[in-house]
Amino acid sequence: MVFVRGTFRVILNVHSLNTEGAVGNYNPLTKAYLVGRSGNTWDIVEANVVSGNMLKHWHARSTAELAKSLGLALCDDCKRGVFYRTRLRVTSEEDMLKKCVIDDLHGFLCTETTVKRESLIKVSFIVPVEEKIFNVTTITHNRVVTEKTGAIAREGMMPFKSEYASGLYAFAIAMDLKYVGIPLANPTTPALSKDERIKRAKLAIQALGSILHGEIGAKQARAFPITKPVEAFVVISKKPIPAPIHAYYVDYAKESIKTYESLVTNGLIGKDDLEIHVYGIDIEANNVNVIKHDSLGSLVNALLKRIEEWLE
Ligand SMILES: [Zn+2]
Repeated sequence: MVFVRGTFRVILNVHSLNTEGAVGNYNPLTKAYLVGRSGNTWDIVEANVVSGNMLKHWHARSTAELAKSLGLALCDDCKRGVFYRTRLRVTSEEDMLKKCVIDDLHGFLCTETTVKRESLIKVSFIVPVEEKIFNVTTITHNRVVTEKTGAIAREGMMPFKSEYASGLYAFAIAMDLKYVGIPLANPTTPALSKDERIKRAKLAIQALGSILHGEIGAKQARAFPITKPVEAFVVISKKPIPAPIHAYYVDYAKESIKTYESLVTNGLIGKDDLEIHVYGIDIEANNVNVIKHDSLGSLVNALLKRIEEWLE
């Protein structure tokens, strides 16, 4: 059994990962309101955000690329990066699990037969942290169309404006990897071998690595985010566990450690049934296993190793 719950802080500079669609020649970023602490009171601010849809899509995309490189099963749509409900006519969840890694990890719905699977991977929006370290700016771009003579065409100057944001952002991901390759509608009978299930579960962790390095949204061709992951807090467990407090909140690591300490102290989970892997966070804990990593690579490798050992 393996459950993974992670929350992260990442710097994304000069990105345009989630836009709202152009209004005339203006491309605004997606925005939402966030509640956070400001001194001793609560405050609400409008901030640019990247939607959970976007994050989930890009996790699926990275997973699909990795699956291709290993020759694992993918349906035709997922091979092309089209993560649809599914256009295949499937008569059982088990049938679909055999056909595609992505439909296994990210869920599907066949509207024709109503066979469905919930997503094993759940994500939050990506939002600027509670300390409000973000800003949005507008940059003017120009397209120029020339005639065959070299002259600029009449109406050939096409200025347009796009918003770009820079900030310290946070997001969270939960993965019920216990159920990889197992039909949720009939969880006593795995549809795949243990070997295949481990391979798939490992892909889900590896894809997280790509997300942390900025492969998470739109406009990457001309505004690939200038990214640096700065904090990672990942809990991997043999038993179902609550997610850590979201890294949006300034005190998330300390508060999360307290929660897991009390779970162990109260005997709700065995000390060796869970591990907390951290990067960029200096924290002490009693009664829970905290493993500090000096790189994200080391953290990801440790999780991959645990999946090999713990997935049943
Ligand atoms: Zn698929």
